[in-house]
Amino acid sequence: MSQVQIRGVSVHYGQHEVLQRLDLDIAKSEFIVLLGPSGCGKSTLLNAIAGLQEVSSGTIEIGGHDVTRVEPKDRGIAMVFQSYALYPRMTVRDNLSFGLKVAKVAKTEIERRVGEVARMLQIEALLDRRPAELSGGQRQRVAIGRAVVREAKVFLFDEPLSNLDAQLRADLRVEIKRLHQRLSATMIYVTHDQIEAMTLADRIAVMKDRVIQQLGTPDEIYRKPANTFVARFVGSPAMNLMPAMARAEAGGLSVEIDGKSFPVDADAKATHDQALTVGIRPEHLRVDVADNGGINGVIDVIEPMGPEKLVWIKLGDQVLCAKLDASFGQKAGDQVWLSAQSENIHVFDKQSGVRL
Ligand code: ADP
Ligand code: MG
Repeated sequence: MSQVQIRGVSVHYGQHEVLQRLDLDIAKSEFIVLLGPSGCGKSTLLNAIAGLQEVSSGTIEIGGHDVTRVEPKDRGIAMVFQSYALYPRMTVRDNLSFGLKVAKVAKTEIERRVGEVARMLQIEALLDRRPAELSGGQRQRVAIGRAVVREAKVFLFDEPLSNLDAQLRADLRVEIKRLHQRLSATMIYVTHDQIEAMTLADRIAVMKDRVIQQLGTPDEIYRKPANTFVARFVGSPAMNLMPAMARAEAGGLSVEIDGKSFPVDADAKATHDQALTVGIRPEHLRVDVADNGGINGVIDVIEPMGPEKLVWIKLGDQVLCAKLDASFGQKAGDQVWLSAQSENIHVFDKQSGVRL
């Protein structure tokens, strides 16, 4: 049985439809990430699960109970916001315990839980401070702690790391993953950051245009993106896309790019002469310095990244990105020849962008 079940949920703001008949089943203890660009409806969906946003149609069940019309406080959820939303006049200790006091939890039990959570999140030394006396990272730890003390069945996170600088974001990301392993609670986490999604999620729901574009494990989303939007949104630098034609030959399907033919994986289903968009990730683009039958291009710019180099290569008026080993010795202006292994060539329909 799923812990959270979303069935046909639509949300409108006036005439404007933000979510369209959305279905999503989230298992107990699962870490689900809602990933998508700003404005795609991630917060709206999270707020609908929390009961902070009314749905126009559909149902939401949590723990087997229909909570579609249930008050937020009675849904068994705890929420962490990007803006922390701490009580400014209360100490950290009071911020952590306030919700439990309101819920009339016994004093010794409150002390036990606050102590345990403070230890877990390494904020014991901060318990007597007020939010103004904390850094952003410390505030967000307290905000997470306040959700954890409630021992909710389902945790909802809305871009909790977006206000933090890069190093803190990486640290706290690991912290959240550790927390999930320890609590084995169900977590629903909203972000526009594909790295957060890939690193944290058991499954990712990629959202755009009012619907879920793809639901899958990080590995599935990376290896078999359902369409060109998902293909470009996940992975950094983004997947290279280029126009191609399908060539169905006796030996199987090939794609013709720039007059050169490359065999593709047996899974791909395209008809002869079908107009395609072909995708190759920067880490899968093979770059040769001699003509190996690949596509001819000229190095435009090289960006050293420590262990790797990002090599931007001009193909007519297109620029492709290759992620290569730091030992790659060519310079801007040098000629190169590009190819890729068949299993690393993604094939999409040109019109719809759907994976074939
Ligand atoms: P995300 O969290 O993915 O950035 P939101 O769920 O906040 O997106 O918003 C989805 C869409 O709904 C956006 O186009 C946004 O402008 C619109 N929207 C959000 N809240 C309101 C509101 N209270 N009234 C009208 N439109 C809203
Ligand atoms: Mg949002």
